[in-house]
Amino acid sequence: MSLQKTSDWLEFDKNHLWHPYTSMTNPLPTYPVESAHGVRLKLADGRELIDGMSSWWAAIHGYNHPVLNSAIEKQLKSMSHVMFGGLTHLPAVTLAEKLVKLTAEPLQHVFLADSGSVAVEVAIKMAIQYWYAQGKTNKQKLLTVRHGYHGDTLGGMSVCDPVNGMHAMFQGVLPEQYFAPEPTCSDDGSSNIHCLETLLVKNQSKIAAIIIEPLVQGAGGMRFYCPEYLRQLRQLCDEHDVLLILDEIATGFGRTGSLFAYEQADIVPDILCLGKALTGGYMTLAATMTSAKVVQGISADGMGVLMHGPTFMANPLACEVANASIDLLLSTPWEKSIQRIENQLQDELLACQELSIVEEVRVKGAIGVVELKEPVDMKTMQADFVKEGVWIRPFNKLVYIMPPYIIKKDELAILTKAIYKILKSLDANKF
Ligand SMILES: *Cc1c(COP(=O)(O)O)cnc(C)c1O
Repeated sequence: MSLQKTSDWLEFDKNHLWHPYTSMTNPLPTYPVESAHGVRLKLADGRELIDGMSSWWAAIHGYNHPVLNSAIEKQLKSMSHVMFGGLTHLPAVTLAEKLVKLTAEPLQHVFLADSGSVAVEVAIKMAIQYWYAQGKTNKQKLLTVRHGYHGDTLGGMSVCDPVNGMHAMFQGVLPEQYFAPEPTCSDDGSSNIHCLETLLVKNQSKIAAIIIEPLVQGAGGMRFYCPEYLRQLRQLCDEHDVLLILDEIATGFGRTGSLFAYEQADIVPDILCLGKALTGGYMTLAATMTSAKVVQGISADGMGVLMHGPTFMANPLACEVANASIDLLLSTPWEKSIQRIENQLQDELLACQELSIVEEVRVKGAIGVVELKEPVDMKTMQADFVKEGVWIRPFNKLVYIMPPYIIKKDELAILTKAIYKILKSLDANKF
């Protein structure tokens, strides 16, 4: 079979290739992309779509950026990869130095992993090993909140929302963790953290760490909550002898308006997970950072060996593009860009609030969410968006965008107008 014609390779894709969270026997349509530039994805038939997804939070500078391209090209000429066991290299060391400098003072130690899920696994292992080395071998469980998302490997899955994550299907395989209700905050600054506190107090002898996405719960429901919740969470962790893992894989590198979301709560985690936008969406790379306290704790039994080490750990191409992406971000007025996007999203998405199918419109930083009352038919709505010239991928009851930071005003307006138009026609068809 020749794969010359687009229709041929699309057919092969349909029959042989798995896509994220899809069926092989009843696959959803996929759209062939030929190239991507700036905020535009070019389809094989020549159509161009404005990207509202940043390829799942990652492509913050847009696609095919000359600075990022040249960083990879330059690194390629010296080495694309070497094992990290027993060897080291400047791309990794430079990246570690940047991350240590950019994050809160106590976060001094960096583990470079190959994906977000793996960074979460490493964080979980760090927490368990920390207590183990001090003779607290019972502290192996995690406490988290509902509607979280922490990745697709078994450890990460175990702390994802039990309903969205289909925990029932994996019963007996997934470690059982503790779940508090999803964070809710009222305008007077009070929250439902007492529910979490009750669980924590009752089970602290078994809990190694609390893991949570700060301020924004991503793939588990696109929910936002208040910094006060995090401040109290930090306090509870200290009072009850558990570590705090913040998963900033989605929120890191400016998305919520601060470089890291935890800054808005003025707290410091014991362990921090980064990923997604770390390489500007170019390559798969993630990092788990921790403090001297945790490092010393892990070493308390004299061994101190952290039980993890992927083959492609600290891949030099990925590290160099991460270095270039971080420098690029910091050399631009990124805070202004996020603020501008936030203001525009607020102005333009609010119109959706009047539609009867809409439950709520919410905006935080460069994230805009329209939550509907009923789940959408993803296949139809995806096709409708493509017809409007935009790439927006709704799931369940959520239509949401987190565009590249470089998006221009008129381009963002195309995204918000498309959302309003599609939702309005859906609304009209209801009656
Ligand atoms: C995407 C994501 C992960 C998983 O990262 P992968 O690179 O897909 O493995 C973990 N946590 C959060 C908060 C994420 O958004």
